[in-house]
Amino acid sequence: MNKHYIYNPKISRKTKYMERVAIFPGSFDPFTVGHESIVKRAIPLFDKIVIMIGFNSNKRSFFPVEKRLKWINEVFKNEPKVTVESHEGLTVDFCKKVNAQYILRGLRTSADFEFERAIAQVNKKMYPKIESVFLLTMPEHTPINSTIVRDIIFHGGDPSMFLPASLDMSEFKLDE
Ligand code: ADP
Repeated sequence: MNKHYIYNPKISRKTKYMERVAIFPGSFDPFTVGHESIVKRAIPLFDKIVIMIGFNSNKRSFFPVEKRLKWINEVFKNEPKVTVESHEGLTVDFCKKVNAQYILRGLRTSADFEFERAIAQVNKKMYPKIESVFLLTMPEHTPINSTIVRDIIFHGGDPSMFLPASLDMSEFKLDE
């Protein structure tokens, strides 16, 4: 991990500055404008954000992990602070692997809050060094979730207004 040095006038000497690394875990099946907005708004808050595509090899996903990796990489190709990796297993184990101190999550509704609260508290119990950080969704993204976008794609609708604008929409046609 890179370590920078900053001047801290309180102790009048050079102090080691630990990179602030956050992970943004999710299934991102697919990655929507709601996810994109959370990551973009979090960029000024952290030195590095690792988007973690969580998967379970026993469960079938709609889009293969390789496609999800490719699409998210495409969205952030000009953003050096953001990287993407896939992970099977506990989120806290991935935090340890990439030296992350923060878990970033988005909150749309009070139902999200209750769900996220339990996950964050359990993660904190399992790995006390980790802090969960929540950003409220932009109002226009509140109704968007991957399940609805999958349904639109599955039934041949146009999902483009719910997907990051930089993506090639022809890739979301099921028969291609
Ligand atoms: P999971 O499978 O863990 O629910 P998702 O891929 O659905 O993962 O979402 C990952 C994160 O993105 C979660 O914190 C979720 O609350 C957040 N999120 C999902 N959709 C939106 C949205 N439209 N606006 C803001 N945050 C969102």
